[in-house]
Amino acid sequence: MNPTIVSFVYLVAAILFILGIKGLTKPKTAVRGNTLSALGMLIAVVVTLLDSSIVNFNFIIAGVLVGGLIGAVMALKIQMTSMPQMVALLNGFGGGASLTIALAEYYSKLGQAPASFAEILTPVVADANAFGQGVEGTIALVSIGLTVLIGALTLTGSFVAFAKLQELMKKSYGLPGGPIGNAIFLLAAIGAVVMLALNPGNTLAMVSIVGLALLLGLFLVMPIGGADMPVVIALLNSYSGIAAALAGFILGNTVLIVAGSLVGTSGLILTQIMCVAMNRSLANVLFGKMAAGGEVVDADEIYAGKVTSAQPDEVALMLEMAQRVVIVPGYGMAMAQAQHAVRELADAMEAKGAEVEYGIHPVAGRMPGHMNVLLAEAEVPYDKLVEMDRINPTFEDTDVVIIIGANDVTNPMARESEGSPIYGMPILNVDKAKNVVVIKRSLSPGFAGLPNPLFAMDHTLMVYGDGKKAVIEMTTALNQA
Ligand code: NDP
Repeated sequence: MNPTIVSFVYLVAAILFILGIKGLTKPKTAVRGNTLSALGMLIAVVVTLLDSSIVNFNFIIAGVLVGGLIGAVMALKIQMTSMPQMVALLNGFGGGASLTIALAEYYSKLGQAPASFAEILTPVVADANAFGQGVEGTIALVSIGLTVLIGALTLTGSFVAFAKLQELMKKSYGLPGGPIGNAIFLLAAIGAVVMLALNPGNTLAMVSIVGLALLLGLFLVMPIGGADMPVVIALLNSYSGIAAALAGFILGNTVLIVAGSLVGTSGLILTQIMCVAMNRSLANVLFGKMAAGGEVVDADEIYAGKVTSAQPDEVALMLEMAQRVVIVPGYGMAMAQAQHAVRELADAMEAKGAEVEYGIHPVAGRMPGHMNVLLAEAEVPYDKLVEMDRINPTFEDTDVVIIIGANDVTNPMARESEGSPIYGMPILNVDKAKNVVVIKRSLSPGFAGLPNPLFAMDHTLMVYGDGKKAVIEMTTALNQA
């Protein structure tokens, strides 16, 4: 195919990716954004297949059929609550794909595909110009080395993240040296990349990069707690993008460079947004434990004799009189799959003349946008989902706040107690509302493991029970009132 046409079509695909990501920034344009990105990817794949010197279409067709089938089954079967695991797996496959591209390119340029395991380890005399002359050759080798390093690290790191979220790996393990041990592994792997760049035929250096990076991925993620995995997954997503961009340099494929860079940077931005919303540094997520440090708070002291509970029908009486209600969903709403029931409750309150909005905290649930996706699934109108900064000033004029399975994102300790591990995390100021109703099964803590003084406040009513069941009972009582 004419190279000018190929470049032009790649440019079109890259523009579609950028427009797609732009569309994904707002719920209203998200579906269009997704379609534009998918179209860009389709165009890029078709042109690559038509352009490149494809050796054998049989494997490609078999791969598309088998991979497409597995992907479709996974996408159809996956529960919303298991989405982070799915993303972790896909990141791992992305890293693995970049790893194999780099290895294939290395051995094909070397002209000696190893026929046995022993041959993989045998250094060969490489043609000095096999990877290009002078600086060009060095850049090609460094790109190959780094792609292998980041791709392999992403592969094993993502699989560990999957195992942790799937609760297949419950304990935390790591290198005895902790971060220092990991730094030594990383330096050794970078040293191997330098050795490869100095001597392309040093297959031992290549094997060392693969081995060290696979182990580094394990050691980096194994010590991190399961609940911190969503942040780690955003970071691994970024790594998979960087590996793909580097693979683009190896293959001289501009659209892969652009797509990989977009994934790399957007993953980093997402990681940063999540850390800021949790008021934690990335170093704290990667190397620390959330509840480490801070003063020990005794739950009994906070709750004893001060918690008031209520039944759903009692709450319904209060809702009947309310003019403005804010619903605050959290992880428990996802666990209870209560989103449809919640929307029906909102409909019932609106039918009685109340104004209903939803207060969405950026890290409510266990992945970015978790609440938005669930409520969109239940067809809650987008304009009713109000971000934390915009909803906070409205709580003083709110008659009732209904909190469904949210805990940490409403904990006033984040605002008030300096010794608390969550001090400084921005929260939804629900305690400023006239009445607060909290639906959860018990007084158990949330992700941060802390008691919540909100539950013991005079104007708070606790409704104990599964989120979905309690909300349905409230709606029934309200409709009958
Ligand atoms: P929390 O984890 O603080 O609390 C969730 C509450 O839901 C629990 O206290 C639990 O109480 C309740 N719950 C569980 N199952 C049910 C059920 N079936 N019905 C009713 N309630 C239920 O959730 P939040 O959303 O408030 O906060 C999210 C936390 O996760 C924050 O600390 C955040 O930093 C962290 N995080 C968020 C990420 C993100 O990207 N969104 C990523 C990583 C961490 P009980 O057992 O009594 O029912």
